[in-house]
Amino acid sequence: MQNFIYLAYLLAAVFFIFCLKMLTHPRTAVRGNLIGALGMLIAIIATVPLVLKEASGQSFLSSFGLVLAAVVLGAVIGSLLALKVRMTAMPQMVALLNGFGGGASVLVAGAEVLLKQGKPISIDVAVATVASGVIGAVTFWGSLVAFAKLEEIKWFKKPIGYPGQQPLNALLGVIALALCVWGILCPGHIGIYFLLVLVCSILGLTLVNPIGGADMPVVIAMLNSYSGLAAAATGFVINNAVLIVAGALVGASGVILSKIMCKAMNRSLLNVVFGVFTVEEDKGKADEIYAGKIKSTTAEEIAMLFDGARRVIIVPGYGMAVAQAQHAVSDMAELLESRGTEVEFGIHPVAGRMPGHMNVLLAEAEVPYDKLKEMDEINPTFSQCDVAMVIGANDVVNPVARTDPKSPIAGMPILDVDKARTVIVVKRSLSPGFAGIPNPLFAADNTLMYFSDGKKAILDVVNAMKE
Ligand code: NDP
Repeated sequence: MQNFIYLAYLLAAVFFIFCLKMLTHPRTAVRGNLIGALGMLIAIIATVPLVLKEASGQSFLSSFGLVLAAVVLGAVIGSLLALKVRMTAMPQMVALLNGFGGGASVLVAGAEVLLKQGKPISIDVAVATVASGVIGAVTFWGSLVAFAKLEEIKWFKKPIGYPGQQPLNALLGVIALALCVWGILCPGHIGIYFLLVLVCSILGLTLVNPIGGADMPVVIAMLNSYSGLAAAATGFVINNAVLIVAGALVGASGVILSKIMCKAMNRSLLNVVFGVFTVEEDKGKADEIYAGKIKSTTAEEIAMLFDGARRVIIVPGYGMAVAQAQHAVSDMAELLESRGTEVEFGIHPVAGRMPGHMNVLLAEAEVPYDKLKEMDEINPTFSQCDVAMVIGANDVVNPVARTDPKSPIAGMPILDVDKARTVIVVKRSLSPGFAGIPNPLFAADNTLMYFSDGKKAILDVVNAMKE
């Protein structure tokens, strides 16, 4: 029986690896996701006999019933959440899922501590237990704060920096370290484990709370990685091979994703985790930048501009996702191409609210993959572009990133739309984007603002072009 279980675990691990590989391209991502889910199902089924063996003192029905109840409950809640969630709220959902992973690790390792009270515990299990407690608690509370920030819940919306923040985190870190050593020396002591989890919970809150602005994507990727590491540690605690493998895969892929995102935003990982953003009141600054310099345009004027354009670059952002404008945008691109205009899409790595957000939406609207150009490839070509059309993007085209070293997005590479002959920006108002700062692009000489909902705007432009 044991061999069959290990074989099933191996199969599940292979499925997870294929899943990760396939998730790297929009064309294979959906299938990859299904393969990952199938791997998880195999892992759960293979674990049932182990649970039954562990619970040999209890009746078959009560222990099997418990597993079944947990699986059904989890499946119902997961399916409901997945069906209900708006595409734009996916990052919050990912943050919650990361948090639940961390929370589950804390509980499972805690249950093991209770079960093993008074029994001999090997050093490796003791180390894994404290690791589960530390990483799991930081992940759980950190993810809840990340969720609150992304959901724009009032208190968490802006990064809260306070004097002494770094020393407080350092103090909490030292206390946690001391509790870890104590926990390893006295394994099976639930009181120490509880204290450790408490201190690390506070650390999770204080570490993520001051992070804000454009750094949230990296934080989400890092918390994802932590949840994997916590699961892997818990795998050692309960001696479960598939949990170790799955956790290590999540941990490693999360770290790689964090690194990619940091590179895209020109930030160092340390700077993201320990930096503080002081958000200034920007109202006065916005008035100063925009006053008397904003030029509005109309669908008819845009249609005329398109008439004379040989090359158009479309830059989508979070607002395109909110407006669900991707199909209209795809139709507009097709219409332009049918008239001989060259059309390409400039995709910023952190446009939208999750990695690959724009790629997923445009793939759904059947925009060919070869039309989606990454930032490094498209940037040198903006100067040879007649019209750059920005649809619901803001931070990722904000030139302040290049010019103001104090800005929350300082140093983040942006799409150089301002180098195009004419820039059209489609959004509803002059409101800022995620980073909460004004955008001088809107006041530039070559920029025309089209104030409207993204989808309505594009449909109106298509109609105007047809007329
Ligand atoms: P931004 O958040 O900077 O700006 C989006 C703009 O869309 C807003 O200014 C808003 O203006 C406009 N908008 C909203 N709704 C509509 C609508 N219905 N129709 C038209 N426009 C609309 O988006 P970007 O994509 O430029 O930048 C992404 C930001 O999010 C970056 O700061 C990034 O760091 C951050 N982030 C990215 C994550 C990722 O993984 N990609 C994860 C978490 C955060 P208005 O209200 O005036 O319409």
